[in-house]
Amino acid sequence: MPGRQAASGASGATYEMAASLSAFGDAPQRASVSVRLETPGQRLGRAAKALVLFWGVAAGCVFLPGLHFVLVPTFVVVGLLRAAAHFRDMQIVTRVHGPCPRCSRDQDFAAANRLSTSWALDCPACHTNLQVSGGAPAPSSD
Ligand SMILES: [Zn+2]
Repeated sequence: MPGRQAASGASGATYEMAASLSAFGDAPQRASVSVRLETPGQRLGRAAKALVLFWGVAAGCVFLPGLHFVLVPTFVVVGLLRAAAHFRDMQIVTRVHGPCPRCSRDQDFAAANRLSTSWALDCPACHTNLQVSGGAPAPSSD
């Protein structure tokens, strides 16, 4: 596929794709998004981590008189739902790089979310709420 450079390793293949960074009132900027293709083992690991976290909180809530009737079942169910969501995540965004449309600072943005057509980011420099729109083929150089 044009615009995608794949590299594989022991921890699953990664590829780069073009995306755009936009902020309300400013012209969109081109950005590059690194995506990791999760192996079944990695997906299972993320699912197990979510399950341990939420079920650990549920176990702690057993000792809260009265509240445990609500909190324990809630955290058990939320843990199952989060684990299922993590197990379904096939592609994880590991890095977003590009200039902020508001402050123009070229930077890496923190990312660890599943790949979707668009998602929100926060610029660490100017704290603008940015929208990343991905899935587009790489733009031709100009
Ligand atoms: Zn900024």
